[in-house]
Amino acid sequence: MSGISRSGATSLAAVSYYVTTPIYYVNAEPHLGHAYSTMAADVLARHMRQRGEDVFFLTGTDEHGEPIELAAEREGIDPQELADRNAAKFRELMPIIGATNDFFIRTSDPRHKEKVAEIMQRVYDNGWVTKGTYEGWYCPRCADFKTERELGPGNTCPIHEIELEKVREENWFFRLSAFQERLEALYEERPDFVVPEFRRNEAVSFIKGGLEDVSLSRPKLKWGMELPWDPGQRMYVWFDALLNYVTALTFARDGEDLTDRYWPADLHVMAKDILKFHAVIWPALLWAADLEPPKRMAIHGYLLMGEKKMSKSLGNVLDPFVVIDRFGADALRFYCFREVSFGQDGAISTAGFEARYETELANDYGNLASRVLAMVDRYRAGVVPAAQVDAVLAEDFDGAVGRFSELLDRAELTQALEEAWRLVRRLNRFVEETKPWELAKDEADPERLDEVLYNLVEGLRVTTLLLVPYLPDTSERLLAALGEESRELSELGTRPGGQKVERVPPLFPKIEAPA
Ligand SMILES: [Zn+2]
Repeated sequence: MSGISRSGATSLAAVSYYVTTPIYYVNAEPHLGHAYSTMAADVLARHMRQRGEDVFFLTGTDEHGEPIELAAEREGIDPQELADRNAAKFRELMPIIGATNDFFIRTSDPRHKEKVAEIMQRVYDNGWVTKGTYEGWYCPRCADFKTERELGPGNTCPIHEIELEKVREENWFFRLSAFQERLEALYEERPDFVVPEFRRNEAVSFIKGGLEDVSLSRPKLKWGMELPWDPGQRMYVWFDALLNYVTALTFARDGEDLTDRYWPADLHVMAKDILKFHAVIWPALLWAADLEPPKRMAIHGYLLMGEKKMSKSLGNVLDPFVVIDRFGADALRFYCFREVSFGQDGAISTAGFEARYETELANDYGNLASRVLAMVDRYRAGVVPAAQVDAVLAEDFDGAVGRFSELLDRAELTQALEEAWRLVRRLNRFVEETKPWELAKDEADPERLDEVLYNLVEGLRVTTLLLVPYLPDTSERLLAALGEESRELSELGTRPGGQKVERVPPLFPKIEAPA
């Protein structure tokens, strides 16, 4: 395990690892984008648990603000009723996509609101809030004001492409401009505060463009938290939403405050559209409340349903619920991180999904597993022979676990998966090179067959341990069949052999078109 621990220390105490998704806005139903952020955070949470770290993984829902108020009004219901209904759908999504979140926070939870009031009062008492008149372009669908340089043509929202109205009102302001130098210093001192680098550069250029104070409250809003020092105004939803990452730790465990154990967060995972709030306002707000900023943020792009290449079984829209229903969550998790380089925008398609399912999951990996287990069963009565590590194979496995872990430390989910898949391909080549079925005919050299089978089982075991976070269900089944009880990362040759293995039914069954 040397070279894997993030702490680099020999101490037995687990290092804490706190990872979050954004909290999802309940004015809409869960879709692939929500699943994508959550699966990414889950891959990291699962991997860090395999490294023995003390993981806390948070997700939840963002429930205040004008978009919810308006949507509830349209339906003629109370905003809380709308929030309850949609929050339930997000909560149900989590086990469906295999997310192992330790807690699910809702911002309408009174325990969250109580803590937000306390923190915002501290921001006020510390002198970081001022009253003023706001005049600006407000997008009700973003629940955000747009600066002049952010506006689209004809005073439109660049995201929603709707014409915006100029709003003028008495507001409280958060003195973001006072944190200009401190933010610049933060980015200078911590070059990987935001990854990937091009997103970091976006944040830096926004900061260097000159920060303005931001509106903290609105007088007419009904569905939001009252300001503790001025109940006539309601808090702008972003402040109460961002603070979820801190407040959750105070009530996620009954009778226990987890703040000292997990704050500052190790990683916030999010899509690029909410970069500004997290990368610019969030650290400043934390400083204003005498709290430390998080250690890092990983920003991902969009999965775009680009080409209308149709798959025979899925139609032309990649609906996560349909995919999972038919192929399982593992296949969706694998496809999303395999097809689109994590951090970038990229095109996905149902035809692309099907192609990767067949060639990579079913053939490269599933068949490899079935063949190896079947050969041990047939040639060695299901017992893995004790043998030497193959020197040539070992060279290709050397350092792989360390590299994989380092990639995930930098939230390089696609490269880490490629590192594991390189091993899958290597093992397939090893089968072709050594031809165990021919060795089995040649009674003269049983030791070589022992060695080949031992190395195949070891290689498959190590590779599958790496794949646990991407393919949690499949890896469980396969590791059980391989007689591996631990989920801790280990290297080729760590097990001496002698364990019993079992054949498995196809891990990724053939796709059948619906009748
Ligand atoms: Zn908008």
